[in-house]
Amino acid sequence: MSDLTVGVVGPAARIYGALMGRAAGAGNDHALACMIASSHTGGSSLPARLGLSPALFRCLAEHHFPGTTLSAPGPSGPTVGEARTDELADLIRLMLVNKADQSPSEVWMARIVAAGCMASDHLWCDLGLWSRTDLTELICRNFPTLAARNLKDMKWKRFLYKQLCETEGIHTCRAPSCEICDDYPGCFGPEA
Ligand code: SF4
Repeated sequence: MSDLTVGVVGPAARIYGALMGRAAGAGNDHALACMIASSHTGGSSLPARLGLSPALFRCLAEHHFPGTTLSAPGPSGPTVGEARTDELADLIRLMLVNKADQSPSEVWMARIVAAGCMASDHLWCDLGLWSRTDLTELICRNFPTLAARNLKDMKWKRFLYKQLCETEGIHTCRAPSCEICDDYPGCFGPEA
């Protein structure tokens, strides 16, 4: 969990605190409480209900924060256009084939992370997390075989798309290797 959590104040901190007061003690409680608090207060780029259907969001809320009376967050970012539904589905599939198989939460998290990839900032910001560390921990916990392939700490959104490219046999990189690529800072630079 990020140290930055203690620096968040105001409505987001109050929502986070209310949710964590109900937390079930599951691995994704903290990350989801951050995302929901941020989404309620304009601090993320996720669609309504973190990109989940009403039924899935209800399952998530009951699993992680049983008995909570907090309403589902509305949209903080644009909805996914039809042109990107295949891309969204590919990202979800990539994460599902690499999930830890420890919790039903991994399936919801795959959908949420893919929804965050549709926005344009750093992935941890688009998801409404409060630090990149929280995102790294989330990926390691939910999709460990995927995380294990990010040996050089590539930016997470770039990394997920690069995995898709390699899976599908598509090569969009302009250089033969990262070491000699002009885009290196875009893929590996600081993510803050
Ligand atoms: S640094 Fe260049 S070669 Fe490496 S993943 Fe990024 S774009 Fe592709």
